[in-house]
Amino acid sequence: MTNDCLFCRIVAGEIPATVVHETDETLAFRDIGPKAPVHVLVIPKEHFTDVAALAVADPGLAGKVLAACAAVAAAEGLTEDGYRVIFNAGPHSGQEVFHVHAHVLGGRPLGPMVSA
Ligand code: AMP
Ligand code: ZN
Repeated sequence: MTNDCLFCRIVAGEIPATVVHETDETLAFRDIGPKAPVHVLVIPKEHFTDVAALAVADPGLAGKVLAACAAVAAAEGLTEDGYRVIFNAGPHSGQEVFHVHAHVLGGRPLGPMVSA
């Protein structure tokens, strides 16, 4: 638990979130500013700054985060039409919250992978 981390505070129940999937080690909740009809954030409950830190420290947990992304996509009805999973990391990505999170996006054609 990192006291000044927004997503650690969501895990702790101190800040409300619309939770759509939960395991012992992961949590998935709706993004507060959705960029697509389905926009869910999937996080490990344990704090890691970004996907690289998570992968180095605990590759098994990184796999569980990916499995949770797939479970969310299935539960949200995205499996047939497809979806996108994004991890932002560092300044060029525009990462704003420094608790690793996967964006699971879908529900409409998502356009080019990145803007020009
Ligand atoms: P990133 O730019 O990859 O760090 O993404 C951070 C995401 O967190 C953004 O898409 C925000 O809309 C989202 N976000 C910020 N605060 C909250 C919150 N309290 N509950 C849910 N999502 C949030
Ligand atoms: Zn955190």
